[in-house]
This record gives sequence, structure tokens and C-alpha cells, in this order.
Amino acid sequence: MVSLGKSKKDFLCKFMKYYWDDIIGHKKSITQLENDILNKNLAHAYLFAGPAEVGKYAIAKKFANILICPNDYCRSCDDCQQFQDNLHRDVVTVNKLWIDKINDNLEQIARSSNFNQIHRAKKKTKTDIISIDDIRSFSQKLYEKKQSKYKICLIKNIERLQPVGANALLKILEEPPQGTVFILTSSYPEKVLKTILSRVRKIAFSNVADQVILQQLQKQTDAENLSEIISIAQGRPPIAVKLLKDYSLFEKEKTRFHQIANILSKPELKTDFQFIEKLIEQPQDIENFLNALLRFLRTLLLEKSKNSQSGLSQKITYSNLVTMQEKTNNTKIMLKQNINKRLLLENLILDLKSLA
Ligand SMILES: [Zn+2]
Repeated sequence: MVSLGKSKKDFLCKFMKYYWDDIIGHKKSITQLENDILNKNLAHAYLFAGPAEVGKYAIAKKFANILICPNDYCRSCDDCQQFQDNLHRDVVTVNKLWIDKINDNLEQIARSSNFNQIHRAKKKTKTDIISIDDIRSFSQKLYEKKQSKYKICLIKNIERLQPVGANALLKILEEPPQGTVFILTSSYPEKVLKTILSRVRKIAFSNVADQVILQQLQKQTDAENLSEIISIAQGRPPIAVKLLKDYSLFEKEKTRFHQIANILSKPELKTDFQFIEKLIEQPQDIENFLNALLRFLRTLLLEKSKNSQSGLSQKITYSNLVTMQEKTNNTKIMLKQNINKRLLLENLILDLKSLA
């Protein structure tokens, strides 16, 4: 691939046609999307692939909004308004799914996924795996007569598809209703069926450089904890923005980093299992903990590559750190499959301690 010189890159960034100023980083991916629109070279299906929480879905939504607006992404017409409210009839969004939990907030789910999920309520579905019933339900909307130039189908974390569902989606991808654009995102593209991968145009995402996040946030704030925020966010702009807005969350994340360091550096298990016990009581915290764990491991990997090793990064080998990341990622996926959470987390901690 031809690599663009810096001046050419700057040129591309400065003269974007659409408004992307609220997105931090990812200039290369954004430029590629703009070029596809401007050169009338849209794919039937896209896969935005890259690490979790770097902003893929936010960009997918913006891309969809640009396509659905008849006035070059004006952000004020009826189409833009309906899109923003997740009520546009030509747009299907598959994000949060109804899971049989007492704290399921149906309104919140409807704001993030706009297809009929009554089958989930009836079956008291307990996972967020995208089932064949889900596909049957949302695909109906794709075959209705469209009012806009495009029908858009946005699916977050496409790796949630099971093989049966994947085959059903594949059939639609093979012969999509005319004018349909699928925008799929995944943090685990290696877990997506190859037959699906072969039908999508892949847009690669990666972590955003600390310097880029810092420059952007400095325009908004002179907060003293900015460098700590950047360090915790680990190249994930949406996390940095969240931490900046919510000081108590920032404090919580800082404490979590200390807890993780303790778990990995101290031999006794009793306190670790007590920690897991507490974590299980707050199920929404489990994913946050695992994400923080991944960020922590990534910090250690970065330290290793910079030769500025100390403490844990010096102690743990590079290949063990990679294995630890894989095990954490696998646990994240398995947790969504309704397996005993305590057992999974205890096993993960035991595995990580044996590698640390
Ligand atoms: Zn508009």
C-alpha cells in the first residue's frame, strides 16, 4: 500500500466535506469513508473492525446519518432528526438487546435498537447473542419500501451472531434489498464467520495516539487530571471523554487500576476471591472490570515495547502478557453466554496469576 506523506495526510484531514469534528482520531478511516461517498463507490456492506471502545459505533452511526440525509448531513432536516431519535424507518439499528434481567430498561433498549424484540420478551432470552429470531424481525424493515436513498442496517458487535443467525444474515448479504448498506462493527473480527467477512469492505480501526486525544481534549478543558485520564483511557477517545465528564468515574477507574495491580502482584487468593464476590453483586461492573484489566495489560505491553520497564512489566514476559489478554478477551465473550460468572472470573484470576 502506498503510504501518504504527512502534508498529503494533513490536506485530506483539513478538507473533509462532512462534519467530523466531534470524533477524536481515526482520520484515515474517516477519509476512506468520505472518499467512498464522494466517489460513489459505496460497498453493500462494511465491517468496522478494531479494538473495543475506540469509537467505531459512533463513526458507523455518523456514516449512516450522512447517507440518510438528503442535504449533505445537515443535522436539522426531518431525516436527520428521526435518525438522531433512532426512529428513522429506513434505518435498522441492532445494538442493545432485550435480556431477561430485572433491571432491563426497555426505553433505553429502544433508544439503541429500533426493531421489534417482542420474541425476546416472550422467550425470556437471557443472552445478547443475535439470534435467528432477531434477524427475522429486523430484516422485515429492510424489505419495506424505502423513502430515502438508502436502507441502512447498523449492527454493533457482529461477533454476537451464532452460526444459524450468521447463515440467515449471509443470505440477505448475498442478495440485499436494493440500496441497502450494512454497517457492522466488531472488536473480534476473527470470530466473525469467514463467509460474512468475504462479503464486507473492511475499515480498520486502531487505538488513537495519546497525543491526538490530548490535543483534542485540551481544546475543551484545562483539567489537571488530563494526563492521568489519557493514561487510563489507553487510546480510547470515548473513555477519555467519559472520564473527563465524570470525576467519580475517574476516581473509580484509578482505584480499579490499583486493584488489578494488587491482584497480579500478590500471591494470596483470599482477597481476590472476595473482590470477585463483590463484583458479582454488581453485574454491570464485571464488563467494566474486564475492560480495565485489558487496558492495564495493554499499558504493561506498551511499557515493555518502550524499554521503560519496571515492576510488573519487567516481571511478566511479552508472550505471557499476550496470553493474559487473550484469556481476558475469551472470558468477556464467555460471560455473554450465560455461563457461571463466578467460576469464569475465578478461573481467569487463577490463570492470570499463574502467568504473572
Ligand atoms: Zn439532514
